[in-house]
Amino acid sequence: MTDLPDRQFGFRTRALHAGARPEPETGARAVPIFQTSSYVFEDPESAAAYFNLQEYGNTYSRIMNPTVAAFEERIANLEGGVGGVAFASGLAAQSATFFTLLSPGDHVVASRALYGGSITQLKHLLKKLSVELTFVDPDDPDEWDRATTEQTRLFFGETIGNPGGNVMDIERIAEVAHNHSIPLVMDNTFATPYLCRPIEWGADIVIHSATKFLGGHGTSIGGVVIDSGDFDWSNGKFAVIAEPSDAYHGLAFHETFGMYGFLMKLRSETLRDLGGCMSPFNAFLFLQGIETLPLRMDRHVSNALGVATWLDARSDVISVSHPALHYRENAALLEKYLPKGAGAVFCFELAGGRGAGQNFIRNVQLFSHLANVGDAKSLIIHPASTTHRQLNNDELQAAGIAPGTIRLSIGIEDIDDLQWDLEQAFA
Ligand SMILES: *Cc1c(COP(=O)(O)O)cnc(C)c1O
Repeated sequence: MTDLPDRQFGFRTRALHAGARPEPETGARAVPIFQTSSYVFEDPESAAAYFNLQEYGNTYSRIMNPTVAAFEERIANLEGGVGGVAFASGLAAQSATFFTLLSPGDHVVASRALYGGSITQLKHLLKKLSVELTFVDPDDPDEWDRATTEQTRLFFGETIGNPGGNVMDIERIAEVAHNHSIPLVMDNTFATPYLCRPIEWGADIVIHSATKFLGGHGTSIGGVVIDSGDFDWSNGKFAVIAEPSDAYHGLAFHETFGMYGFLMKLRSETLRDLGGCMSPFNAFLFLQGIETLPLRMDRHVSNALGVATWLDARSDVISVSHPALHYRENAALLEKYLPKGAGAVFCFELAGGRGAGQNFIRNVQLFSHLANVGDAKSLIIHPASTTHRQLNNDELQAAGIAPGTIRLSIGIEDIDDLQWDLEQAFA
């Protein structure tokens, strides 16, 4: 589906139709699962043209696949980007982005309120690349500015952070990045393009773990990188994209592909070499998930706000980190970036510490105790016993996690049943 000259389709319509049309050979209405590793070439000349990137065509499913392409096009459309490249997981999407943009000696500034797996990835993977890293307060744009050096090559943050429910002032932080001629890369997993589209506020690259709300049913692992197409890779700081590449017989990606330069390099070099591609079956499931994204997110958001407000009123709860409560004094920030609601993942702290946290988990019946978020079903975890088990109490505190902190990912069940389950766990 493409926009018609006299019709710009709405978000809900595009969630169902963007990037796909009935399959011309067979008329199949659903996007078929093209379960093939490779594609027959018409003749040696067209095969050579594909490999030279002179023509765009399917060669091998590590690099491109029609089912995966429909997913890439749909999510790029919903985020307002020029295109996307899918990966085997969210973290594969992030590492491929870092490998594409960074060289030894470079520096990255990142929010310190990130998904735990991203913090570990940044700390250890970047060190192996000899890239320096500074973590900063996501709520303080000036700290991002002060942390930036001549060597800084990107900013990295999350629309809705973890575990404190921080919401970045994307427009201001993008301005800071652009003053230094570097891109802002945003992980938009917790918001999804239904709640916030960072590119509209100046972000240059958006990354998703499709594993979460996009898939929406806890069935598949996947990730995707979307480019706004607006960043000037020839500004002197990105020789990796602007200069002829040894890894692709001297191709200069920005000069050759213009606004697709970064994406073409990400696909035809980094994905080719790192190899973490999305399977067509997973792409099919993500396409299914995205069809109902707007419906599910509305319910996720209202259930989560209802449960958070209910928890906040209890005397046996010390604090609740839902963004709507975190930004009680700065409601304008939420109204600006998340007018439809602030997602469905948040933490609360139980009085009674680690023992109380573990007991609470033992006693829920409807919530599933597991390490994921963004499922249609409600999920619960006790970070101090699981995702953050390696940390002592001081380190937990630095990460914003108390011994009695519980993380919830609120699903789309009847809210009465969710409150019933939590109530009986409190008892
Ligand atoms: C899960 C998650 C990731 C990592 O994605 P995977 O698909 O598990 O590799 C990155 N960022 C956020 C915010 C996540 O929730």
